[in-house]
Amino acid sequence: MKVRCGRCREPFDVGGPGRHACPMCGSMNAVGEAPVSAPPNAEAVERAAPAAGESAVPTRIDCPDCEFSFFVGDVAVAPCPNCRTDVVLRSEAEEAEPDV
Ligand SMILES: [Zn+2]
Ligand SMILES: [Zn+2]
Repeated sequence: MKVRCGRCREPFDVGGPGRHACPMCGSMNAVGEAPVSAPPNAEAVERAAPAAGESAVPTRIDCPDCEFSFFVGDVAVAPCPNCRTDVVLRSEAEEAEPDV
């Protein structure tokens, strides 16, 4: 890789990151790894975004039996963690109920 001397502005070749002396003026030049640190950051942001979007939004429900509040995912029936009562989230059973 090529770097430019900070003192005499003379470009010279170095093997990699580290401290290298300029062949022209002998001044020490610190060569960092700037291009390498950028991609991992972008990848982390890209990975975090879809994870938050694809997961189902938890729904907060109250148990009709013990009034215990808890969060459930995308399910029709969730057992109450407090009293084990099956709490129905979706009114799919409405059709089965006799219309009086
Ligand atoms: Zn130099
Ligand atoms: Zn309950």
